[in-house]
Amino acid sequence: MLRFESYARPETPEEAYELLRSDRLATVVGGMMWLRLADRTVPLGIDLSRCGLDRIEETPDAFVIGAMVTLGQLERHDALTRATAGVLREAVSGIVGTQFRNLATVGGSVYSRMGFSDVICALLALDTEVELVGAGRMPLIPFVERGAGRDVLTHVIVRKHPYRAAFASVRPAATDFSALNAAAGLWRGSWHVAVGARPQKAQALTGGERLPLREGFSPSELDAVLDATSDLAFGSDLRGSEEWRRAVAPELVRRALDAAQAKEA
Ligand SMILES: Cc1cc2nc3c(=O)[nH]c(=O)nc-3n(C[C@H](O)[C@H](O)[C@H](O)COP(=O)(O)OP(=O)(O)OC[C@H]3O[C@@H](n4cnc5c(N)ncnc54)[C@H](O)[C@@H]3O)c2cc1C
Repeated sequence: MLRFESYARPETPEEAYELLRSDRLATVVGGMMWLRLADRTVPLGIDLSRCGLDRIEETPDAFVIGAMVTLGQLERHDALTRATAGVLREAVSGIVGTQFRNLATVGGSVYSRMGFSDVICALLALDTEVELVGAGRMPLIPFVERGAGRDVLTHVIVRKHPYRAAFASVRPAATDFSALNAAAGLWRGSWHVAVGARPQKAQALTGGERLPLREGFSPSELDAVLDATSDLAFGSDLRGSEEWRRAVAPELVRRALDAAQAKEA
């Protein structure tokens, strides 16, 4: 069981950050769905529920998602779903069940950078940034690759583009973790493909400074990306062997691309 020696409910993210800095064992509390599985005593729990981070705000050029927004809110937000070609809803709707998604948060999902995360995989296919008290604002890719210090994640920012995007995953059973997942998003004329649950954390494969995959890619350009997919680092765990993941990942990428292409621009 998880126990807290003391518990704070700060009014601002900055106050939460000061509390986090005050004790190296202090722990930020999101939806607590993951944290509660631990069996330990934490000297200070920092609950972000009063920090005003539970809203999705639409600005002229982005959707600004508060860290305490639940996966359920994300799933049900029609404007965000339309703007992202449904990729976030697709990624989230398979996670456990409705009650679970109404508690687990976007902040907890992104900050913990779990290998199996469907949320991170889908966000990597979009033009996404994160905002932290401490490290400030940065693109999602370096945050996922390197993490941040002991900071408070306040927002996930999804920039607006006329996206085409889709998510694909393989789960051993309906409510289990993904054994492998992939997402593809087209924006600024380039496909951004991510592959996760390898079982290591999701990796951006194409787009930006990575392997190019332009909008109207040729069969040979697609083959180069599928070859690069099978060259990614994969591992074995309870949900799949390294060989299985290496064999299936290119097909999953192809499915995500096909599904995204089939959507209207
Ligand atoms: C049984 C189970 C099944 C799951 N299945 C899936 C799945 O299929 N697909 C999937 O993508 N995910 C899955 N998850 C993960 C889940 O969706 C959440 O990502 C996870 O529970 C963390 O979110 P939370 O709000 O519960 O965070 P918490 O448990 O509260 O926190 C998790 C970690 O993040 C830190 N943290 C939380 N919020 C912040 C913040 N704003 N700033 C800084 N640090 C923060 C905490 O200190 C802690 O270290 C599963 C989790 C469980 C327990």
